[in-house]
Amino acid sequence: MKIVVAKTAGFCMGVRRAVEMVLDTSNENSEPIISTYGPLIHNPQVLSLLDEKGIPVIKEIPEKGSGTILIRAHGVPPETKERLEKVGYVVKDATCPRVIKVQSIIRKHTQKKFSTIIIGDSDHPEVIGLLGYARENGYIASTMDEFKALPKFENAIVVAQTTQSTEFFQEITEFVKKNNPDYKIFNTICDSTEKRQNEIRNIAKSVDAIFVVGGKESGNTQRLAEAASLHCDNVYKIEDVDGLDSIETDSFKKVAVTAGASTPNWIIRRVCREIEKPSYKGGRLFLINLQRSLLWTNVYLAIAAGCLSLTSATLQGFSHNIYSFIIISSTYVFSMHLLNHLTAIKADQYNDPERAAFFVKYKKLLTLIALITGGTGIMVAAEIGKLPFYVIIGMSLTGLSYNFKLFPKFLSRKYRKIKDVPGSKTVLISLAWGVVISLLPAISEPVSVDLGTLVTFLLISLMVFNRTAFFDILDMQGDRIVRKETIPILIGEEKTISLINRILIALFIVLIVSSITGVISKLGYVLLLYPVSMFSIINIYKRGFVFPGYRLEILIESNLILAGFISLAWMLF
Ligand code: SF4
Repeated sequence: MKIVVAKTAGFCMGVRRAVEMVLDTSNENSEPIISTYGPLIHNPQVLSLLDEKGIPVIKEIPEKGSGTILIRAHGVPPETKERLEKVGYVVKDATCPRVIKVQSIIRKHTQKKFSTIIIGDSDHPEVIGLLGYARENGYIASTMDEFKALPKFENAIVVAQTTQSTEFFQEITEFVKKNNPDYKIFNTICDSTEKRQNEIRNIAKSVDAIFVVGGKESGNTQRLAEAASLHCDNVYKIEDVDGLDSIETDSFKKVAVTAGASTPNWIIRRVCREIEKPSYKGGRLFLINLQRSLLWTNVYLAIAAGCLSLTSATLQGFSHNIYSFIIISSTYVFSMHLLNHLTAIKADQYNDPERAAFFVKYKKLLTLIALITGGTGIMVAAEIGKLPFYVIIGMSLTGLSYNFKLFPKFLSRKYRKIKDVPGSKTVLISLAWGVVISLLPAISEPVSVDLGTLVTFLLISLMVFNRTAFFDILDMQGDRIVRKETIPILIGEEKTISLINRILIALFIVLIVSSITGVISKLGYVLLLYPVSMFSIINIYKRGFVFPGYRLEILIESNLILAGFISLAWMLF
């Protein structure tokens, strides 16, 4: 079965902003003094998540309020905001900027004595909020009949709920132009809604079934399903994987998955995997299980570390103790990543629930394997010499301490673990790989540190930085929930991708210059394949041609393995 995932599926800008705002505000405060006025968005899973984090929903304004209250993406009438402030809340406004724009249009025209006709659902929070800006001159029409039944106004504007159907608003527009040419029409439908509807309309023509994922209460999910139904007979609106129970998904050859503006990534991923499951048969089932096992157990990552060890040795031009260093780097990377995964299951419950369940189920066994493997690496290092032994012990202790409280409360309330330092994960992982893979062999006799070592250290660290930062992008939603301040959370997805692309350009230049000058071996020329291939993968992801999942993860890790195979071939031939 082929699954097409709509590029526009999932959080829109306004919802993402509101969710990030509430989580960031909650993460900034150690006490649970934050609440939302009304449900933040129309998605039950996100709402129960906020509830778990101790962020209550305030439905009625109390006589006395305290702490910070967030106004949701849909906005509220102006007097509600004033009342919230009056009773004692610090109000943070997470109203989507595009909704604010519609509010401003209405406010401006209300001051000029225009009436406002809102094309939308009368019980939708956004429409209720907009109506507040129109005061007593606001009217709502959700059907053509309701519109026709409205009185004739001398001066009026027509606006749309931002998630309104484009077809229906077009119909209204044509009617107004014909019958009320003096009315001013503002097409305030959000382009995110329009793009989402257009995309699914196009996809619908070439698939057997469409799964629209989103909350039951979500108006934009409903309209997305309606748009899909125009060209496809099998459209299923589901909230989560439970909705698939009664559907025979394996009877379809090609399906599409799209999602409403308030559906988080982890639910879209979960639904895609569930739909795909019945088609896992024979060779494909074997391949999927293999990919999954290699990734979840970190074996693939350990192979990548071993490959990079080979690359490092070839670039620096030594072969002494090479197999021992391959074992040390593989075992170190395997044990550290596995142990850190086991202590960070919470984020995985959002980013990759299946992986989290795997870690919970085999926690003891995996911990034992990680400790035995780590111990093996330390023993191999001890055989080489005292210095490698101490270095690997120091690196292992640093790796293990990452998730533990090291700093006393009186020094810092916020930064008690290394993990709490913003961006520390990506930087520390990159440096650790760089040290173990390129510096450790160089400080062990008879090899010595030279310029080639430092360049290799830089190359290896940057290659690892790229893969780690890219995985951080894929895990952003879950990381934010559990307060992991990774680089993409600090600077955003776009800037992180741009940073990775710049690093790839820098790697390209460093490889050429250091190969020409003889600082590293001529293998540097062949390794130019790495930045080219990584750049291609990131850009096909950015353009939405590949959706987060095993395939993408294997592709990214395979870049490091590719470097190892190139080095092996270089050594052999
Ligand atoms: S659909 Fe558009 S207007 Fe509505 S919250 Fe999302 S970005 Fe804002």
